[in-house]
Amino acid sequence: MDFMKYNIDFEIFGSIIMIVIILFFKMKFDRQTESEKAFMKLVYFVLIAQIMDMASAVTISIGGPKMALFNLIFTTTYFIVEFYSGISFIRYVLVAAYRRPVRKYKILLDVLAGLFALSVLANMFFGYYFTFDPVTGDYIHEKFYYLLYLIPGLFTINSMILVIYHRRKFDIKQWISVASFVVFVSAGLILQGLVFPHVYLAFGLVTIAILMIVFSLETPDYRKLIKTMEELELAKKDAEEARHEAERANRVKSDFLANMSHEIRTPINSIMGFDEIILRESTDRDITQYASYIRRSGQTLLTLINDILDFSKIESGKMEIIPVDYDIKDLLTDMLLVVSPRAAEKGLALKSEIDEDLPRILHGDDVRIRQVVTNLLTNAVKYTDRGEVMLSVSVVEAGDIAKIKFSVKDTGIGIHDDDLEDMFKAFSRVEEKKHRNIEGTGLGLAICVLTLELMNSKLIVESEYGKGSDFYFVLEQEVVDASPVGKFNTDDGSDTRKVEITREDFTAPFARILVVDDVAMNLTVFKHLLKNSKMNIDTASSGAQSLEMMRSNDYDIVFMDHLMPEMDGIETLKKGVEEGIIDTGSLPVIALTANAISGSKEMFLSEGFTDYLSKPIEVKQLISLLQKYLPSDKIQKSR
Ligand code: ADP
Repeated sequence: MDFMKYNIDFEIFGSIIMIVIILFFKMKFDRQTESEKAFMKLVYFVLIAQIMDMASAVTISIGGPKMALFNLIFTTTYFIVEFYSGISFIRYVLVAAYRRPVRKYKILLDVLAGLFALSVLANMFFGYYFTFDPVTGDYIHEKFYYLLYLIPGLFTINSMILVIYHRRKFDIKQWISVASFVVFVSAGLILQGLVFPHVYLAFGLVTIAILMIVFSLETPDYRKLIKTMEELELAKKDAEEARHEAERANRVKSDFLANMSHEIRTPINSIMGFDEIILRESTDRDITQYASYIRRSGQTLLTLINDILDFSKIESGKMEIIPVDYDIKDLLTDMLLVVSPRAAEKGLALKSEIDEDLPRILHGDDVRIRQVVTNLLTNAVKYTDRGEVMLSVSVVEAGDIAKIKFSVKDTGIGIHDDDLEDMFKAFSRVEEKKHRNIEGTGLGLAICVLTLELMNSKLIVESEYGKGSDFYFVLEQEVVDASPVGKFNTDDGSDTRKVEITREDFTAPFARILVVDDVAMNLTVFKHLLKNSKMNIDTASSGAQSLEMMRSNDYDIVFMDHLMPEMDGIETLKKGVEEGIIDTGSLPVIALTANAISGSKEMFLSEGFTDYLSKPIEVKQLISLLQKYLPSDKIQKSR
């Protein structure tokens, strides 16, 4: 090897390594990923470039005219292949960054490489880059020789820019190996070009850089990991899409339920209203009895609809807990009153055991508590044939925030242990067949559980099949007035409340009121309910119409529906006040609403309403509002 003009040890070493890498990859994978394919191309080009470089080193060293043609062929091939290895590297970087083939730069790179290759080939005939002395075979650098380094050099700079530009797409391992590749190649070129012109060093460093990539990026395990990660990513995306789709379908269902129940409530309101009129006007005992059955069924239907509405509200996350100050005594009395007729009808004793130390005024969502406890009480009555139903309320822990336990115990049919879990699920009913004659949707307990969850509490059941059940929960409530409620009247309400008919015990022939509602039936019901009062009752079917009427007439009270198309009740009131038509100081405006949710009273009051009345209208409440807000000189007591 003494005749060699150049030291090619590094290239021999580099070529062996390249061959080992190629064999290794061939043995290891039968199917290659895009990134492996790009990497293998790079390795092939580097190998061929080195072989050409070494071959030309040999032919140049041998020298003489015989070698001139070989010199030319080897060196020309070398420059072309070397350029292609630069391009392969850029492709590899892009594939590694995007994890898939990149079409965007392909044509540009191909055209550039093609042009460069052509210019090097043409050099064989025109000799502007390099030539070989025809006699000695010496290597002669021509005018544009530096372009042969400048153009690939520009590509190296381009690679650097690419690596930096895509740095976020690389993980740290990729980033370090790819960046060091660029550094090694540049270092190799500079060292060989400026420091050791006769040592073919550049490819030695390229080899080290390629080895780095092999060990850090293209190892089978790493590839597998990347592939698994990609698959995982895809699976995650699929799952996410499926979840979105399911959520959307569920939302559609909830919205449908909410809309339907709202729509169904409107006719029920008129059915109940007219039924109320029959109850009040009929003197025939049978007809009154039939009407009372309609009222009972109507109330059940309304409960069902409200359950569905509540359930869809909870499901779509629209159920809110709205805490207000409330009187615990009122709440308990109300809840017992609601179920006492049914208990009495079945001959059950409805008892209560109320802790005398219970704080008088609490802060919480009384509407939701009422709903949960009433539900439990109704169930207890429903599923008990003899014995008693007991409501116990006790203070578990006193303080600024009191822990209060509500328990509903019955001596009813009880629940099998196996059924306890299913019971809380929506639409699930235990022993469906046996209870077919007991009306229900299986939603009640599900709503209780979810509502209590919203209030950070949990419904617990202890039950013995055939003996009875105890449903209880502990609720944290802020204490507003800690003075104890004292002895609670444990009247079990067992005096059957006969069909209750409220008649107004006053007339007001000089009073004039306005009722605003977009549903004509509701207006008719309203008028008929107050027929005996002899009041002058005007009606308007829209906010705009009501404002017109208020402008030209003097009213003693205005009853304003909340939800109306175009202008709702709140907007109408605001507009009326703004335009000086309504002076709430002298004209009481009472909101009518079908959505009796907690906090709505406060909401209406803060919007400027004087009071509010929920639909279906309870005559008792309506009359008490009239007595409260009609000018006293217009009321004539009839009895
Ligand atoms: P439903 O509308 O059927 O009453 P719920 O969700 O309120 O729906 O109750 C679900 C099921 O739990 C009922 O069908 C009934 O079998 C059982 N259950 C609820 N409360 C009681 C109780 N107090 N005693 C026995 N079984 C009960």
